[in-house]
Amino acid sequence: MTQQKITKKLKLPNVFILLLIVFFSCALLIFANFYTIKILSANRAYVNGESHYSKGQKDAVRHLITYIYTQEEKELQLFEKELKVPQGDGIARIALSHNGDDEVIKNGFRAGRINEKDLDDMIWLFKYFKSVSFLADAIKEWEEGDYLIHQLALVGHEVAHEINVSKLNLAEKQFLLQRISSISDKLTINEQEFSNTLGEGCRKIKDYLILTNIFFVLIIIGSVSTYYSKMVKKLLSSKKEIEVKNEDLTLANKELDKFVYSASHDLRSPITSLKGLIEIAQLEDDISQIKDYLNLMYKSLTKQDQFISDIIDYSKNKRKQVVIEPVNLTDLIEDAINQHEHIKSVKKITIKKEFEISNIHSDSLRLKIIFNNLLSNAIKYSDENKEDMHISIKTYSADKFHKIEITDNGIGIKKEFQSQIFDMFFVTNNKNKGSGLGLYIVKEAVENINGIITVHSESNIGSKFTVTLPKLYET
Ligand code: ADP
Repeated sequence: MTQQKITKKLKLPNVFILLLIVFFSCALLIFANFYTIKILSANRAYVNGESHYSKGQKDAVRHLITYIYTQEEKELQLFEKELKVPQGDGIARIALSHNGDDEVIKNGFRAGRINEKDLDDMIWLFKYFKSVSFLADAIKEWEEGDYLIHQLALVGHEVAHEINVSKLNLAEKQFLLQRISSISDKLTINEQEFSNTLGEGCRKIKDYLILTNIFFVLIIIGSVSTYYSKMVKKLLSSKKEIEVKNEDLTLANKELDKFVYSASHDLRSPITSLKGLIEIAQLEDDISQIKDYLNLMYKSLTKQDQFISDIIDYSKNKRKQVVIEPVNLTDLIEDAINQHEHIKSVKKITIKKEFEISNIHSDSLRLKIIFNNLLSNAIKYSDENKEDMHISIKTYSADKFHKIEITDNGIGIKKEFQSQIFDMFFVTNNKNKGSGLGLYIVKEAVENINGIITVHSESNIGSKFTVTLPKLYET
């Protein structure tokens, strides 16, 4: 698996996790807001209920006091009617505390003049939050209030009984009045405490809700920004990739243009010179002269042959896929030497071999192209003026690389040409002028198998080409 594929595999889940975080944060935010609003709405209904509770209790007290002084039966009935409001709430509270039937609870609240639409939320809040401190405190106040309401009801019965039995004297009336106002005062405190506790709870919940909202909004903003920055980075890097590919394509197009132009020119020139030589030979009677012309024709055709073989190598190198397989380096080099044996000058050259490695993993087609061209150049550019002409081929292992060196004591390459010899169609002004394709193809072939090629050369002394290849599967 390539490095690129691995990093892609690692990056994709990151983006996916970010989207998941945003999704869950949104879901939690909706959840938190929904339930907080439900809690606050139920709280408001309880506070509202308390105002009916308080009003009912106060109206009941007022009617009871009027009854004591007027002794009109209607006032007693009104007292009992108004008292049913807090008593209804009391019934609902007891049923709620004992997990009683919902209908009993609702009827209690209905008697307490609670709005029909608030009933479900109030029951839900009590059931699930009765142990939460603010509601637990409020329920305690409510319980104490209900006890005082019960006391008030008892006083009401007592008053009714006393009035039925005998008329109350002033002292008895004042005594009853004191008891009623004492109960009423205590109830007022309870009612206030109930509302205050719920109000305090509401404020706390509101604060928590704001904090929760801020927290989730920050998470969402953070995740979305990270997601976008990742996307923008991806876009930028793919834009860069496209730009690089475009540049490569432009370069390839330019090379192709150059190739077509030079190839058509170089293919034609030997034919033109052949035609010329044939024309002169036809006019010539001298056999030895004709032999010279034939010799020149042969050279022209050899050049043409070499050029066509270079073009074939160029095409193979471009089109054929790299196939990494076990190859025998020694055999490949020996084959390349054998292919050059028929050349006249080879006989005068000593070829030294020093093979330290043989079996490697690489692409045999590219290696053949590399060896044939480097060896052919070493022969082609040998220095006939030297008595001891030699070429040395060396293979060895260095750290994580295989090295192949082809050294000759030929004519060498002038310093000013050394940076251009790997360019397409570059030739120096020497008499063995070739196609200028050989080293270009060699460099491409070396790069195709992830290697590098370097040259070290001195004019009139010789040249050394070093090919460095990575060890792919060898230890
Ligand atoms: P060519 O067909 O001209 O040999 P190459 O691309 O193989 O084309 O080589 C480019 C140039 O590099 C040659 O024209 C030659 O001047 C120089 N060159 C390549 N190999 C050697 C060598 N072993 N010794 C001296 N000069 C060389």
